This record gives sequence, structure tokens and C-alpha cells, in this order.
Amino acid sequence: MRKITILGSTGSIGKQTLEVIREQKNIEIVALTANQNIELLEQQIHEFNPKCVVVMDEKKAMTLQKKMGHKTEVLWGMDGLITVSTLSEIDLVVTAIVGMIGLRPTIAAIKSGKDIALANKETLVTAGAIIMDLVKKHNVRLLPVDSEHSAIFQCLNGEQTSAVESIILTASGGPFRGYTKKRLEEVTLEQALKHPNWSMGAKITIDSSTLVNKGLEVIEAKWLFDLRREQIQVVVHPQSIVHSMVEFIDGSIIAQMGLPDMKLPIQYALAYPERVINPYPRLKLGDIGTLTFEEPDLQVFRGLALAFDALREGGSMPIVYNAANESAVDMFLKQEIKYKDIVTIIDQAMTKHNVTICKDETDVIEIESWTRNIVRNR
Ligand code: NAD
Ligand code: MG
Repeated sequence: MRKITILGSTGSIGKQTLEVIREQKNIEIVALTANQNIELLEQQIHEFNPKCVVVMDEKKAMTLQKKMGHKTEVLWGMDGLITVSTLSEIDLVVTAIVGMIGLRPTIAAIKSGKDIALANKETLVTAGAIIMDLVKKHNVRLLPVDSEHSAIFQCLNGEQTSAVESIILTASGGPFRGYTKKRLEEVTLEQALKHPNWSMGAKITIDSSTLVNKGLEVIEAKWLFDLRREQIQVVVHPQSIVHSMVEFIDGSIIAQMGLPDMKLPIQYALAYPERVINPYPRLKLGDIGTLTFEEPDLQVFRGLALAFDALREGGSMPIVYNAANESAVDMFLKQEIKYKDIVTIIDQAMTKHNVTICKDETDVIEIESWTRNIVRNR
């Protein structure tokens, strides 16, 4: 029996993780966490009987504890997240929380020897070097949940790292594929929140439309698979059937395919190294008909180009790329800025930043605060 904590169980990945667990009877939920949606958390408590849950707000946690009685312990805040990520009885943490808030609990989990099923890409983007060192030191598994990285992980099964020439991340291109710079300027919040292929949380949906999501995934891949910047390619594939590919030194390319359904990579991470049967719809290539591929337009989608710049600069620059984007997307969702401002804000923050090397999470959080300040005061 695998015993797990899910950070962010009320979000898109969190809910789909619970769907997977409903099918796979050999996983026990020890802890769940939520930010705002306490009502859904309550339903999850009734169904899965976790030993503990975490709510970010102290008052809401108190109210929930009164309702739950002694059956489930209700913790709160960052301390709560760290506690449930390091419980002695768990062996894996699913990081389905959104944003850099996932950093400290993930690091704490690795330090206590827990395997990680990583959905929270912002963590690896901002602290890749620190996390990969800790993963080695504590001999834990970092299992990708992001569909592209799960695809690459599957393509690399049984291969030597030295045999890898490059990886090819696929991108759907988002709702604004083919747009000109000019047309992109008029995009509304409503349009940006409609992704053609995937149903996801609001932040990653906006990130997918700007291609910043692909930028974050480029940086995520660098750390997960120990690659140089030149070894990472992006290709636009609007059907989202090929989830990503690996090109080997002999010129052979291996791809992983499937319907766009996050339950598959989630299940793969939870069951790894096994494969397990499931009742989900199957891909029928004859029904799909055509798979197409095209180069991304880096002039129009500057959000992706800036990720490669951040990688080239290295050190603390990816933190600035990520934190400026988190702040900007947050403002865009509140309709405080225009769509086109998101990428301008990232660009400006990166231009103002002098790269340093972060030795631990405190340094990372310091650069994050610096960036948020720069964005706020612009
Ligand atoms: P979401 O917005 O649907 O859910 C986020 C979860 O995090 C919720 O449970 C919420 O309560 C919690 N949360 C949000 N802010 C918090 C805060 N300040 N403190 C504590 N908890 C907080 O997001 P999602 O789409 O499920 O994405 C989660 C992560 O997975 C992101 O890093 C995203 O990039 C990554 N991811 C998502 C998908 C997808 O299909 N949704 C695919 C690949 C990767
Ligand atoms: Mg992805």
C-alpha cells in the first residue's frame, strides 16, 4: 500500500489524482490540502478519510476542525503544508499546488526521504539546482506529472543518458496559435481562459496561451533530465496527441502518445515503475487522422523566447522569469493589466536583474520577493 499526501487536492491536478486513486485501490491518502475551496475539501475528507488536512487560513482551519471533530486533524498555513509533506507514515507527496508556494514543502519532503510526484513545475524552475542536489543526496524519486515530462521520462526508459541527442517538447500552441503581435494585443481574459485541448487551473491556462507554460517546461526539463539548453527543442503540435519526444544520437526519435488526459501521467507517476490497467478512453489514431507539427513563432510568443534567455543567463534568472510571470498573471486575472503586459513585465524584471547563485531556498525566496517588488513598483 502506497501512502501519500496530496498538496492542492482541490485543484485540477489534485482532483484528477483523486480520480486515479478511486480506480487504483492500493493507494492510501494520509493528507490533503486546500486554499479556498473548503467545501470540496470537506467532501474529499468524507470520501477518503485522511488523517490530516491543511487549510491556508487559520480561522477557516479552526471552523473546519470544529466540524470534523477528532477524526481528522486540521492544520493551517505553510507550517501545516510542511508537516503533512514530512509525516513519517507517507512515502510519496503529490505536489499539485500552483506557484512557488510549493517550494518549501517540496524541499522538506525530499529532505525527509519522500518520493515526489511533481506537478508543481514552478518549484523546479526556481530551485532546480538545489532540488536536484537534494534528490541525489536523499536518494528519492522525482517523478514527473507534467504530460510532456512524463512522455520524455517514458521515452527514456532503459536508455543511456549519453545516448540522448535532444528532447522535443510538444506545445499545443494555445488558443492564439497563428496570431500576429498586433492581434495578440487585443486578447481578453475570457479568450485567454479558453484552452483548446486541456482543462486546467486558471494560472496554467493563461501560461499556456502566452507559451510561458512551455518556457517553464523547458526549464523544468533541463533540471529533470540534466540537459543543456541546446538539447531542448519545442515544436507546436496542435492536436496534443504526441506528448513529447526524445531524439537519440543515432537519429532515431521515440515519441509517447495518448489522448490529452492528465490522469495518464498522474497514474504513471503513482504506479511507477509498474504500468496498470485503467478504464479511460483509448487513443484511436484513425479517428484523429492527421498529426501536424510546426515551429513556434518566437517573435510573437516572446514568453517562450525569454525562457531560453533565462536559461542562458542561468543562476537566479529563472526565478525572476517565474516570479514576474506569477505576479503578472495574478494581476491579469484580476484585470489590473492587459494581456500583452504579462510578457512585457517578465522582460522588464529580467532586464533589471543581476544574476546571482542561490545556495538554498532562503536565497530563492529573496529573489522572488525582489522580483515581486519590482513588478509591483513598475
Ligand atoms: P489549480 O489552480 O486548479 O489548483 C491549485 C491547487 O493549489 C488548489 O488545490 C489550490 O487550493 C492550491 N493553492 C493555490 N494557491 C495556493 C496557496 N497560495 N497556498 C496553498 N495552496 C494553494 O491548478 P492546477 O491546474 O491543478 O495546477 C497545479 C500545478 O500543476 C501547477 O504548478 C501547474 O503548472 C501544474 N500542472 C497542471 C496541469 C493541468 O493539467 N492542470 C498540467 C501540468 C502541470
Ligand atoms: Mg505540460
